[in-house]
Amino acid sequence: MDCLFCKIAAGEIPSKKVYEDDLVYAFYDIDPQAPTHFLVIPKQHIASAAAVNAENAAVVGHCFEVIAKVTKELGIESFRVVSNIGESAGQTVFHLHFHVLAGRDMTWPPG
Ligand code: 5GP
Ligand code: ZN
Repeated sequence: MDCLFCKIAAGEIPSKKVYEDDLVYAFYDIDPQAPTHFLVIPKQHIASAAAVNAENAAVVGHCFEVIAKVTKELGIESFRVVSNIGESAGQTVFHLHFHVLAGRDMTWPPG
């Protein structure tokens, strides 16, 4: 499949790694929107959070386990996790990813 994040997870396209295990890959966003901005993705291709189901939901839980662990290791206490689903919500890469943003005050509601 021609998917940018599948290629990044497989190491075929270089990225700045934050964390990796058998199921999950995390790397810094190429266009950071906060002083710390990295993405957590399942290695398996899931198109978005709207494609989560009983078969693949465990890896989503694992993504959040990784988010908790990595932010703790980086000393980040307050952060925002975002997943855009569909073009109107701002999704540009159609492989499930969780943005982790930190290091500045965040506004609510998001834009
Ligand atoms: P989305 O817009 O789908 O929510 O998020 C996609 C994110 O992937 C964007 O924040 C964008 O900056 C990031 N991105 C797109 N291409 C690359 C790339 O080649 N490398 C990295 N590290 N991030 C990318
Ligand atoms: Zn993919």
